[in-house]
Amino acid sequence: MEAVKRFIQGQHLVTTYVVEAGGLRVAIDPGPPNAYTPLAVDAVLCTHLHNDHCGAAGHVGRPVYAHERYIRHLADPGKLWEATREALGPWAELFGQPRPAADVRPLKDGERLFDAIDVYFTPGHAPHHVMFLHRDSGALFVGDGAGVYVPELRAVFPTTPAPFRYDLYVESLRRVSAIGAKALCFPHFACTEEVDLLRRHIEQIKAWREAAEAVKARGGGVEGLLEELRRNDEAAAKAVEAGGLLYRFFLLQSVSGLLASV
Ligand SMILES: [Zn+2]
Repeated sequence: MEAVKRFIQGQHLVTTYVVEAGGLRVAIDPGPPNAYTPLAVDAVLCTHLHNDHCGAAGHVGRPVYAHERYIRHLADPGKLWEATREALGPWAELFGQPRPAADVRPLKDGERLFDAIDVYFTPGHAPHHVMFLHRDSGALFVGDGAGVYVPELRAVFPTTPAPFRYDLYVESLRRVSAIGAKALCFPHFACTEEVDLLRRHIEQIKAWREAAEAVKARGGGVEGLLEELRRNDEAAAKAVEAGGLLYRFFLLQSVSGLLASV
């Protein structure tokens, strides 16, 4: 397996994984348009349509596979780009505008691709979210469905931008916890054999949701929730301290999305 790091403003934003699958080279999450470098692959899989993961799908010039109900947005990304600009504000221009993908192919829940990769619909982070189990290696490509994993900080924290669906996120995590993956590959930012992270992440997201409910109940906002999480969750404290994209893009979006969901 190869891991290709994608950088925005000199900072690691996302990792594209390239795996061998049924004699093909397959890229998972090509990254955003402005961080794209050419990939010598036969096919592209998108865990979901967010620009930082799938924005460059049309740049690759190969068949692109994504959730069956949303592939039209890859063939004609105009509406997707509008939604991206609305959701991400200035980040959207920084990440870049998608190109139409000429060949888009629908993924179905439970199907096996190339006789080598199992497809799991895992909504919650986004309705079009999919995880992939690479059967040869046992690696589960978790997209944004299991948090941001920062190996240097030994930290995981939730990926919960608006519109976030807590019930579906937890249900999806429970589902993939039971499939016996041998490794987890996070696009943000690396793979790990610590598969128990899935179970621990379910506990973490519960605690974060409770914190969001408590802060909302006393009339607090994003600042209040951030302060609460910093005090009670080491991963949140480390992300605040790290600053940069980790704080300004990932953590702030997660905290505001979580608060808006309760
Ligand atoms: Zn995402």
